Amino acid sequence: MLRKRVGKMVSGLIRKTALFAACLWVAGFAYAAEISEIAVTGDSEYTRIMIAGDDALDHEAFLVSGEGRRQVDLKLTGSRVALNAETPAPQGAIDAYEIRNGEILFSLTTPMMVSRALSLSPTTAEPRHRLVIDLVRVAPIRFDKAAARDTAARTSYAAIHEIKPEPGQGRGTELGKRPDEYVVVIDPGHGGRDPGASSHNGKREKAIVLAASLELKRVLERSGRYKVHLTREDDRYIEHEDRVSMARNWGADLFISVHADAAANSGVSGATVYTLSARGERRVDRTAMSNGWDMPIEDGTSQEVSGILADLIKRETKSNSSIFADLLTPELAKAGPVVRNSHREENFFVLLAPDVPAVLLEIGFLTNRSDVARLSSESGRRKMAEAVGRAIDRYFDRRDMLYAAN
Ligand SMILES: [Zn+2]
Repeated sequence: MLRKRVGKMVSGLIRKTALFAACLWVAGFAYAAEISEIAVTGDSEYTRIMIAGDDALDHEAFLVSGEGRRQVDLKLTGSRVALNAETPAPQGAIDAYEIRNGEILFSLTTPMMVSRALSLSPTTAEPRHRLVIDLVRVAPIRFDKAAARDTAARTSYAAIHEIKPEPGQGRGTELGKRPDEYVVVIDPGHGGRDPGASSHNGKREKAIVLAASLELKRVLERSGRYKVHLTREDDRYIEHEDRVSMARNWGADLFISVHADAAANSGVSGATVYTLSARGERRVDRTAMSNGWDMPIEDGTSQEVSGILADLIKRETKSNSSIFADLLTPELAKAGPVVRNSHREENFFVLLAPDVPAVLLEIGFLTNRSDVARLSSESGRRKMAEAVGRAIDRYFDRRDMLYAAN
């Protein structure tokens, strides 16, 4: 089916070369990159797409869900697929390809989302420009939600680039459909054999943050607007990876990891909100500088944490994490002291779920007596939970407005 499509495109091109050139010009494709290779590697967890061309490859990727299919629609802005480009055999989670002018539709056997997109300039060893797209497996519900969000963007992309959808193609999920219930995942930090920080009077972070998280769950459930999950509801240890997978599998619309801080200076007090961006970006910059951007590509395998971190940074520019953090900080300030400081990096793993807006909330300092008193008291916990709840309401109010605008 694919080869037939390509063949149709080829004969179409030959017959309508003049019209084609005119369209390219009109659409601003005068300097179209020519693609010479499409390669796919990986498995049903991680799949990598590599596209090589003779010029820099601008791209946008959209998820498409509908009619029993899940696809990644890769728009190669200003590119055309060279007529001699080899089409790869089905591989990884991709079982079919449709190549058209300036776009490639990848059909997925299992729901996957783009975790990373890297544009690589030519090197002495590799004279071509390369675009590397890494896909990572996600829960079906997460894919479908993201595809629903992508629908509007994909439609406007098509309008701008004058792409006419083929009959029965690319309808996607219902445009701008608002979910019935938003899924909020609260992640009480530490637990079990990992107690976290401790206070002067023997309070453990794992217990303080669990109590705070349970209170937040109560506050959120009261509104009837949210489906709330906790990564743990008792004193048990859970791996960071598992916390992330839980959030994915539940189809989280928002992920809040709750911690309590410790400082050498007992005078430091207050809550702090962290998103991945600010610190993660520095970390990725360091990794990029020490390794060089080509490094992750040479080994050809899926990248581990550092790679995923890099992906997230890319995504983070568009992500909602910082929007939520900006709503959360002023609400917290109404409930108690708020500080900004640096954070221990190891906790950031929990912020790495692809496409789940995530913040890490340090609710206070266990090294500060008034914070300990505040967080240990029922009224202190309630005030904190209500502040977070107001921020969550405002965040999803905004989301509702965006859905309505579609
Ligand atoms: Zn902690």
